[in-house]
Amino acid sequence: MTNTPSEKPLDFIRQIVTEDQESGKHPTPITRFPPEPNGFLHIGHAKSICLNFGIGQEYQGTCHLRFDDTNPSKEEVEYVESIKADVKWLGFDWQDHLYFASDYFEQLYEFAVELIKRGKAYVCDLTGDQIREFRGTLKEPGKNSPFRERSVEENLSLFGQMKDGAFEDGSRVLRAKIDMASPNINMRDPVIYRILKTHHHRTGDSWCIYPMYDYTHCLSDMLEEITHSLCTLEFEDHRPLYDWVLDTLQTPCHPRQIEFARLNLNYTVMSKRKLLQLVEEGHVSGWDDPRMLTISGLRRRGYTPASIRNFCDQIGIGKRESWIDMGVLENSIREDLNEKAARVMGVLEPLKVIIENYPDDLVEEIEAQNHPQKPEMGTRKLPFSKELYIEKSDFLEDPPKKFFRLGPGREVRLRYGYYITCNSYETDPETGQVTLLRCSYDPETKGGTSPDGRKVKGTIHWVSAKHALGCEVRLYDRLFNVPHPDADKSVDFKDHLNPDSSGSLTDCKIEPSLKNITKGTSVQFERQGYFCLDSVDSKPDELVFNRIVTLRDSWAKLKK
Ligand code: ATP
Ligand code: MG
Repeated sequence: MTNTPSEKPLDFIRQIVTEDQESGKHPTPITRFPPEPNGFLHIGHAKSICLNFGIGQEYQGTCHLRFDDTNPSKEEVEYVESIKADVKWLGFDWQDHLYFASDYFEQLYEFAVELIKRGKAYVCDLTGDQIREFRGTLKEPGKNSPFRERSVEENLSLFGQMKDGAFEDGSRVLRAKIDMASPNINMRDPVIYRILKTHHHRTGDSWCIYPMYDYTHCLSDMLEEITHSLCTLEFEDHRPLYDWVLDTLQTPCHPRQIEFARLNLNYTVMSKRKLLQLVEEGHVSGWDDPRMLTISGLRRRGYTPASIRNFCDQIGIGKRESWIDMGVLENSIREDLNEKAARVMGVLEPLKVIIENYPDDLVEEIEAQNHPQKPEMGTRKLPFSKELYIEKSDFLEDPPKKFFRLGPGREVRLRYGYYITCNSYETDPETGQVTLLRCSYDPETKGGTSPDGRKVKGTIHWVSAKHALGCEVRLYDRLFNVPHPDADKSVDFKDHLNPDSSGSLTDCKIEPSLKNITKGTSVQFERQGYFCLDSVDSKPDELVFNRIVTLRDSWAKLKK
């Protein structure tokens, strides 16, 4: 009963889920997305969300949203709420399957007691440094802790006292008793409980011992009867521990952990810890800074849920680490908005044009299509008058032959309007910059065609000066200067921040039909790109747009 979004062959995880469904092993798969609420979600999480919730939908199963909130010192309620909002915004629904690992603290404690009773866990008094020292290296086996052979009774008593707050933070831990000589370091008696007298966002001060991630994760999956526990490749070496805990406790359900390659995107960093640094140190305006590849940043920039889902579908799921080009992400929003966004005229760097032979007080209403390929998107009226703005870059004092825009004596078509010819121009005596064009129009060319069959090669955009709305347009460039900002661990990744990643044009002119555009709406400024009305800083009388992308891939150029 599979129903995949595209005709592509199934990825290796969906193959497994399909087999398990067809064989009757798991007729209704249950997956989960397990974020730690220690930051906002980023585009990498979107890959995991689309995979887990996607499988839930495609196989008529369910997908749980579970907060892995075992580390009280770094977690905040704000993050929980933002994560829920982001998952919903991406178009997914956990229905009534919202869980918190902290809901299982009591059960996790009981399981730990059970491990102790089975002789499979012990309280260890070594310090953190000593534990590390005893752990050995990839080449050398570890050494047993002197506390490893404590009796079950002593362990039970000490663990109970740990829970009751009898000991200081860090003075003791509970460790699984596995194998200090295991070639897999994760199996060398990993810590499963630590003392931390810290307030928890949900359990308050009820607990002063907290379970570790690896121990919590497999048991939470088990308690929720997850069938396929999907995680990224760095957890492959943790799978033996995942299985050990469940096998040792002989739990009735044993989810299958399957690892896939994480999403890596160039010119960015993708770890909440690093994103948090950018926010806290003020390198960006917040988690939703439009340059951030957080879900909230992408949303504010103007990315749509569909574009992100399509992107995740396109990059696919595999076992091999790879790097995805930022251009691929940009293409996904370009493709989506090419279909959906209304076309409008916006002049980013205005140059005044006076049409000398146009009647002083005349205003014509010119009909323009909202989407040239989609008549169903309708039309709008553009006022045309004697004074217009065009783009500065559409005029050159001494244009080369192939410049099909304006120059002295040259003729060009105004989009939906008339042919105009440049008669003369004025410059600023100090800067030499062109400040004004004087043109004439051909009244016979209304609508952009000439009855005498005269052809012009260039068509440029424009707005009527007295009708145009002013606005600010924010332009963004990549946040980092290098493709892999965190590759070299000896350098601070922030040294690679691009100082020119954000710029602003404050004197832009846009057509009056945009007067009542709502926040978060995206449009195409013809010839310029896609722009989204900023949901935070824009005000009715001070419109602020974010440039989402240009019309063409600017990243492709960068690579050459
Ligand atoms: P970060 O390092 O950014 O904090 P994380 O893995 O620690 O990421 P979690 O909140 O633990 O963040 O992640 C929740 C889920 O999202 C995990 O299953 C994790 O594997 C997955 N995930 C995180 N980053 C990526 C990524 N870049 N690509 C795919 N999945 C990811
Ligand atoms: Mg994590």
